[in-house]
Amino acid sequence: MAIEIHAMELRRTQPQPCTDPNCRGQHAPAERVALAVSLCAARGNKLTPVRRDVLELLWESGRPTGAYALIEALEQRYSRPIAPPTVYRALEFLMSERLVSKIESRNAYVPRAHPERQHDCLFFICSICGASTELEDLRVVDVLAEDAATLGYRVTRRVIEVEGACPDCIPAGTV
Ligand SMILES: [Zn+2]
Ligand SMILES: [Zn+2]
Repeated sequence: MAIEIHAMELRRTQPQPCTDPNCRGQHAPAERVALAVSLCAARGNKLTPVRRDVLELLWESGRPTGAYALIEALEQRYSRPIAPPTVYRALEFLMSERLVSKIESRNAYVPRAHPERQHDCLFFICSICGASTELEDLRVVDVLAEDAATLGYRVTRRVIEVEGACPDCIPAGTV
């Protein structure tokens, strides 16, 4: 019953592509999942229930999440064991669709805030609470494009990870 209600809610949620260039990615998980369904459909690819659930869990987690935490969360959701390759394949698909990014320094995954836009990912990661913030900074994109051109590189992956302490974790008065 709970699963049926959940599916109905998902069907009711309409994707609302984001037009705010300064948006920090504060979107409702259900809306971003609905957007992912429509983006995949437009490309002729299918967001299967497992792929959709992995994406939804990442949105609900709110911080970089490792594959094993996702497997545990899925096992709870489905009340049955989940084979690790199922989750790894779902993550591979989500990354190939540019719906999810891997934070290499954490060996963890985050949903891309704005998969409806073509942009590169700049992640700030708090080493105290583990939260991550995705930023689109066109200046960084331009500098990297210039550097790649100077070196003669054709770039296939651009994920920049910056570690530090987030505003919530810096003691008051020390900034
Ligand atoms: Zn937005
Ligand atoms: Zn923090």
